[in-house]
Amino acid sequence: MTKSILITGGSRGIGRATARLAAERGWSVGVNYAGNADAAQKTVAEVEAAGGRAVALRGDVSVEGDVLSLFQAAENALGALDGLVNNAGIVAPSLPLAEMSADRLKRMFDVNVYGAYLCAREAARYLSKSRNGKGGAIVNVSSAAARLGSPFEYVDYAGSKGAVDTLTIGLAKELGPQGVRVNAVRPGLIDTDIHASGGQPGRAARLGAGTALGREGTAEEVAEAIMWLLGDASSYVTGALLDVSAGR
Ligand code: NAP
Repeated sequence: MTKSILITGGSRGIGRATARLAAERGWSVGVNYAGNADAAQKTVAEVEAAGGRAVALRGDVSVEGDVLSLFQAAENALGALDGLVNNAGIVAPSLPLAEMSADRLKRMFDVNVYGAYLCAREAARYLSKSRNGKGGAIVNVSSAAARLGSPFEYVDYAGSKGAVDTLTIGLAKELGPQGVRVNAVRPGLIDTDIHASGGQPGRAARLGAGTALGREGTAEEVAEAIMWLLGDASSYVTGALLDVSAGR
């Protein structure tokens, strides 16, 4: 039977690459996005052109009502869920902490922490066997920044990903008995739009050159790790934080 997943921030970057790979491997995909409907439709069209099934679902992960509607809409469209890729995330322009506004800090933690926790909570409710779920897997998208701290760039973002790591460790222990595995990937320097949204479009290529593999990574390379953690090939893996960061 076809399995279904919801990918938050599935319309661009790592989420889009994961949507395409999941569909290629036979999963039905809920492609969540926040505001850019054209990008979401493009992702759905790419999946469908490859013979897969996807649906675009708008919703801001930092708004509880949106998250509740999002999961409901995903199940209505795709049937009972088998997994969540908890991927939506933002950065902001590089600054030392002393220069960051309160509004920026609040938005960072609203989307990257509160949003990730809300989506993980809904996944716990939908997937847990004691709540009539099928079991399944949650893959949180953290960052190597959680280990590095990102000084003078974005210690706010780094801290938000530290929270995602801790969520992964705790929730894996809560949900193991429910038939749900919970893991995280920690990407390094990946070629997506996120760097431009932080004011540095060339950042991944520039800093990627200094990694052990001498280059930036692709969204597809992260998608491979996410799909491994989602699928049965990783059946004895839970609570793991998988670096996909070329040794960085
Ligand atoms: P991206 O290319 O900027 O794409 C971000 C995606 O998230 C878009 O689909 C966007 O939708 C969605 N999104 C943003 N805010 C949202 C919100 N409040 N609610 C719902 N969706 C929202 O980013 P990316 O590089 O693929 O990053 C994906 C994840 O990987 C993030 O968690 C990021 O922190 C993490 N990561 C990335 C890198 C990297 O080097 N790229 C490294 C480490 C970790 P709209 O287009 O509609 O706004």
